Amino acid sequence: MKDCIFCKIVEGVNPAKKVYEDDDVLVFENINPVAEIHLLVCPKKHIESFLKIDESFSLTPMVEATQKIISEKNIQEGYKLVFNGGKYQTVPHLHWHLLAGKLEDNEDVLNKT
Ligand code: 5GP
Ligand code: ZN
Repeated sequence: MKDCIFCKIVEGVNPAKKVYEDDDVLVFENINPVAEIHLLVCPKKHIESFLKIDESFSLTPMVEATQKIISEKNIQEGYKLVFNGGKYQTVPHLHWHLLAGKLEDNEDVLNKT
């Protein structure tokens, strides 16, 4: 979708540090990380938000990509997935945050998300 920053990353128009990509999903590093590992998992298809998900869209590719990264990065013992919505969502392209890495030393991320 025009003017969507995550669509521009998906299309390669805007740069991003990509961590994983397949036909349906792109995972890249957050430009402004709040934890040692702070990735954004998004579908290549433009969907505005969690509330716009319906039966025509499967979350399974995003789930499987996230499981794979958790396993590859060996963070099974401690990670967080965060879905922001409404006024707490700043980029209107569906995504969740995958956060990990010494979150016990990171009180904001540990206790406020
Ligand atoms: P949310 O919409 O869930 O509040 O968060 C969007 C996230 O996207 C923010 O944590 C922000 O740092 C990140 N972000 C915004 N613009 C860009 C960008 O152009 N590139 C990357 N890699 N991350 C971005
Ligand atoms: Zn988009």
